[in-house]
Amino acid sequence: MNLDVYWRYVQQKICSKCVDGDGIGNCRLSEREECALKTHFPQIIHTVLSVKSDTITPYITALRENICTVCIHQSKDGKCQVRASVDCGLDRYYPLVVAAIEEVKAEAA
Ligand code: SF4
Ligand code: SF4
Repeated sequence: MNLDVYWRYVQQKICSKCVDGDGIGNCRLSEREECALKTHFPQIIHTVLSVKSDTITPYITALRENICTVCIHQSKDGKCQVRASVDCGLDRYYPLVVAAIEEVKAEAA
């Protein structure tokens, strides 16, 4: 499945409702502030599709292990100030991101 298909669906489902978006799916954050959802999108797809669960917990564990550990915002002791201040769009909307990715996958099956 083409990454663009996933991205367009995520924009439609999440970015269009995000407090940092323009209401129609575009992000208003500057390049310097870029959302982890954008920065790590290919790895996020891979991470979500590697989990199969009816609960969100294993998806969150995979997010912390695969994305947050390589994100510039997380310190070596596992803390993230951006997450703590609810400023990470990926973390804030993660259950919706998981649902959107699983929906695209199911649609393609
Ligand atoms: S902050 Fe993240 S979730 Fe929000 S509009 Fe920008 S890319 Fe989408
Ligand atoms: S929660 Fe923090 S470490 Fe994880 S992706 Fe978001 S900004 Fe990066």
